[in-house]
Amino acid sequence: MAKLAVIPTPIGNLEDITLRAIRLLREADLILAEDTRTTGVLLKHFGINVRMESHHKFNEHQTVQKIAARIIGGESVALVSDAGTPAISDPGFLLVRECIRMGINVECLPGPTAFIPALVLSGLPNDRFCFEGFLPLKKGRQTRMKLLAVEERTIILYESPHRLRKTLEQLIEHFGADRQASVSRELTKLYEETTRASLAELLQYFQNKEPKGEIVIIINGYKL
Ligand code: SAM
Repeated sequence: MAKLAVIPTPIGNLEDITLRAIRLLREADLILAEDTRTTGVLLKHFGINVRMESHHKFNEHQTVQKIAARIIGGESVALVSDAGTPAISDPGFLLVRECIRMGINVECLPGPTAFIPALVLSGLPNDRFCFEGFLPLKKGRQTRMKLLAVEERTIILYESPHRLRKTLEQLIEHFGADRQASVSRELTKLYEETTRASLAELLQYFQNKEPKGEIVIIINGYKL
């Protein structure tokens, strides 16, 4: 029976793709990609020649019902994003929800995602954690920070390099300069780096060193 396969792809190191991911991509009738050029490079590397269509945050609202209908009609669809696990701070949630609603078989493979290695590498408690993805850029940002300041679980944030300094400054305002945290950059890539320190020390570190590459911030939870 046709299904939707949600397939994580490497976040930097191509060796991180799984054998099952390669097989399911090869067997799919259609691959839905966030950016067909980015996924095209990956498919070429693994010698996979399957039709691609784009599925991104600007068209997913309009296309999920049609895609679900095609799966019901017999097409096996694989969903990928540019990097990591689709639907995790990436398009995918709407399609998964629609397929579940329509009784379609959905499979999600375990595989690359940036927050798990960042969390483990932080050395901060990981028995309980909350994933916040990207903080809102404007509306709701201060409110979210206020709520997170008293969150007791370890907090995971995605961030872009050009916003890192500003975000660290705001985190210091809400969480205090001494709160322990870590910043992981370029995970699985050549210049991978994890820096563990207080928020104030991290800000100082990145004031002396231009933040570059993709970034995950991990923050110790609030302790009474
Ligand atoms: N779906 C992806 C996942 O499963 O992790 C996340 C996609 S989101 C659009 C991109 C963000 O993920 C980046 O801004 C960064 O915060 C984080 N990220 C992705 N790859 C990374 C890497 N190699 N090192 C550090 N952070 C990364």
